Amino acid sequence: MSDRLKLPPEHDFGFYQRRKHDAWRAVDAPTLEAPVADSHAHVHMLPDPAWELARCAANGVDFVCEICDPSEDGSRPFDSLDAWLRHASDMLASEGKDPQPPTVRIAAGVHPHNAKLYSAKIERMLLDQLQDPRVVALGEIGLDYHYDLSPRDVQRDVFRRQIRIAKEAGLPLALHLRGGQDNDVDNAHREAFEILQEEDALGPGTLLHCCSLPPDELAPWVQADCYIAYGGALTFKNADAAREGAKTVPENRLMTETDAPYMTPEPMRGAACTPAHVVFTAAVLADVRGIVPDEDRCGFLGQVHANALAFYRVGI
Ligand SMILES: [Zn+2]
Repeated sequence: MSDRLKLPPEHDFGFYQRRKHDAWRAVDAPTLEAPVADSHAHVHMLPDPAWELARCAANGVDFVCEICDPSEDGSRPFDSLDAWLRHASDMLASEGKDPQPPTVRIAAGVHPHNAKLYSAKIERMLLDQLQDPRVVALGEIGLDYHYDLSPRDVQRDVFRRQIRIAKEAGLPLALHLRGGQDNDVDNAHREAFEILQEEDALGPGTLLHCCSLPPDELAPWVQADCYIAYGGALTFKNADAAREGAKTVPENRLMTETDAPYMTPEPMRGAACTPAHVVFTAAVLADVRGIVPDEDRCGFLGQVHANALAFYRVGI
């Protein structure tokens, strides 16, 4: 069979790159020895969430943590999730596959971009959402000094407030931290670390999402026993510092993620990111750690998968 197609295939669960003149090229996914988890995805932002969850299942991705920001997304992910999973199951069955969709849980929290929208009403919504048994973490929360879409003092206040809510609710924290360009050292990570220390919230209940820190800046987080998640950025050509950092994380604290629809990993860059793309990142993470495809990689991927389930306290 030629790997050049006239039209994007709608009913197979593979990966395709758009070429010139509306042609599509099939991209082989790595054949992994163990299931993979996407520990951070905005599934509701994808054009067809049910289809993408079916594609996860068909590609060995059996757990997805969906990120919901009540100030931006309202309750849409909560209202839609059951239907997505039902439809995903139907799509799998109609293609003759195991109809079991991935397990999907939700992290809810106000993103630092939206800190300026935080109000008593939004907080009440958030508290309501945390009552939902599908919620397994508070996030993504943190500081973003790269875009500065909310004033930094407001971001810090809203971050601190949500850390306290998470502690009260007994939920782990999924962090989004991105430094500004006004500083050599990543100031968002440094300030967040101080805030977490002051709030006594550093440790294995804390997850650094989309990590790209070099080893020296990552060291305090590793020493504090936090979980560290790597997404598509790990696969980028210019990400040597992040790859060096990824070598320093203990195996029982590593996680994989996508941040779909953002941060598409190589070799799929140019297409929107989907949770199933996490298989490409998982293969690179193993490679970065010097683990070759065999029994070793089975053990390594099994541990990284188990880490996501342990952090979110999910049994599959
Ligand atoms: Zn995100």
